[in-house]
Amino acid sequence: MSKFKPPFCSNSLCSEHWHDRSNPFTAYESWGSYSTKVFGKVNRFRCSTCGKTFSVQTFRVDCWLKRVYDYDDLTERLSSCSSIRALGRAYKVAGKSIQNRIGRAARQVLAFDSLLSSSRIPVEDLAADGFESFCVSQFHPNNIHLLVGRISQFAYECDHVTLRRKGAMTACQKKKRAKLELQFHPDPKGTEKSFSRIALASLSVLSDEARPFLELWTDEKLDYPRGIAGSACASAMQKQGRLVHMTISSRASRTLKNPLFSVNYLDREIRKDLHEHVRETVCFGRNVNAQMERMTLYLFFHNFRKCHRSRGDSRSHAVVAGLDSAEIRKGLRDIWQKRAWHSRTSLTECGEDTWLGLRKTPLRDGFERRPAYISA
Ligand SMILES: [Zn+2]
Repeated sequence: MSKFKPPFCSNSLCSEHWHDRSNPFTAYESWGSYSTKVFGKVNRFRCSTCGKTFSVQTFRVDCWLKRVYDYDDLTERLSSCSSIRALGRAYKVAGKSIQNRIGRAARQVLAFDSLLSSSRIPVEDLAADGFESFCVSQFHPNNIHLLVGRISQFAYECDHVTLRRKGAMTACQKKKRAKLELQFHPDPKGTEKSFSRIALASLSVLSDEARPFLELWTDEKLDYPRGIAGSACASAMQKQGRLVHMTISSRASRTLKNPLFSVNYLDREIRKDLHEHVRETVCFGRNVNAQMERMTLYLFFHNFRKCHRSRGDSRSHAVVAGLDSAEIRKGLRDIWQKRAWHSRTSLTECGEDTWLGLRKTPLRDGFERRPAYISA
């Protein structure tokens, strides 16, 4: 720890915040130390340009914490159908503490994805669909849109939209829905807007040389073509013929030959692996932003930790999707060590909402207050 050199100034408004390995940060001085039970002696530093002080802890995933977790173990347990309270019992801590670590891990994962996506060699067409679940109560159903590689089953993007409850209801349930809608009314164009983001994200696998054309498969829901038209970039690519929207009936048999197989497969995996999405569970999500943090961490587990085929191809879904295995190994080595910074990460719109917790939870007033270090 004593050999630690701060990589940059922690103040995102300071000119010294943008240093990297090729241009090391030197404009700082030692500023004493303090001792902690968990981390021992922690050295402090002060930026000579802006005067901001920071410590070794500022650059760790566990900054501000008094207890260290094994994030790999947490991710695996979460992705093996453990509920938040079961995790709390296992680690002998409160559920809030578990969700705090899941949020931290989700932000690390978003930064990791962003870093790797630049070196991806696109190899496949994509399929997208909405995973149906709910948050707060069954009066607030949602769709979590998933964008998945047709060959690799790699999850490229996910986005959340709260829907209006539909389907058969008793008179009493209809009355309750009307009452709840006075407090929270979902955006009637929510699905369309969410799919616009998915369509935009799908363009990331287009490459002028390696993959100039892309097929995006969905079912025949009318919100999807509207969503593509709602994204200026996706719509322009569609007009040029580089993005081709293909559809198939959602009633077609869900076999390996179905063009939506990959997204149907991921749908099934989520349904059995994430406790809050298991049918008839009592462990449902109470907060949309926390639900998306858990989904982000699960998709990381799916993409990078699970084998593409449990019998046969032992490569991860990420490697099959054209991500560089050496880069993955390098990134995974310190994913739970070095803190990811919002200011230094390039995120998609969906990623930005997950990182900053910008999605609205039904029946909650306003947006959530989040600690300042999250947006630093
Ligand atoms: Zn500074």
